[in-house]
Amino acid sequence: MRIFAIGRNYAEHIKELNNERPDEPVIFTKPDTAVLRNNAPFYYPSFSTDIHHEVELVLRICKEGKNIELPFASKYYDSIGLGIDFTARDLQQKAKEKGLPWDIAKGFNGSAPLSDKFVPVAEFKNLSDINFRLEVDGVLKQQGNTSLMLFSFDYIISYLSKFFTLRTGDLIFTGTPKGVGPVKVGNKLSAYLENEKLLEFEVK
Ligand code: MG
Repeated sequence: MRIFAIGRNYAEHIKELNNERPDEPVIFTKPDTAVLRNNAPFYYPSFSTDIHHEVELVLRICKEGKNIELPFASKYYDSIGLGIDFTARDLQQKAKEKGLPWDIAKGFNGSAPLSDKFVPVAEFKNLSDINFRLEVDGVLKQQGNTSLMLFSFDYIISYLSKFFTLRTGDLIFTGTPKGVGPVKVGNKLSAYLENEKLLEFEVK
């Protein structure tokens, strides 16, 4: 299983980090050792003092494919879950300044908490109108709707598959809306897809 992730897919989030709006999706990956399941706690790592939450919708690939054309892209994912793309913003900032890769800032152990439940695509009325949000200690921090994505799910699948063969079980983090911010030890994070809480865990 591989984890692909899209950066800078929501305009308001691009603004809050003073990033440039991309012409094509910004792609990075996380290793499978980044995954946390079963609402397992996230242990704050010693190498960073600025870990940020980024709540994201996550697609699950259901069929192997490469060079997938846009009209067929929707056949390659069958369910949608929630994940947190934890980011060591201090390490990422250094990497950005030097033009270096983001791997240690994005792919460290525990940097990808995932919901156990993935909702079948067929249960959504409109994939371009999905609401999701993140609360920290019961306070709303991030709220997104898929209508605000720069690149649609289908476009992301088609684009990624030009470079990487997608396989069943692969996961794609589709980008975070505005409102990213630091977490600290003791915080409780709760993520909702529409009004269903799919993910809840503590920072330790
Ligand atoms: Mg992200």
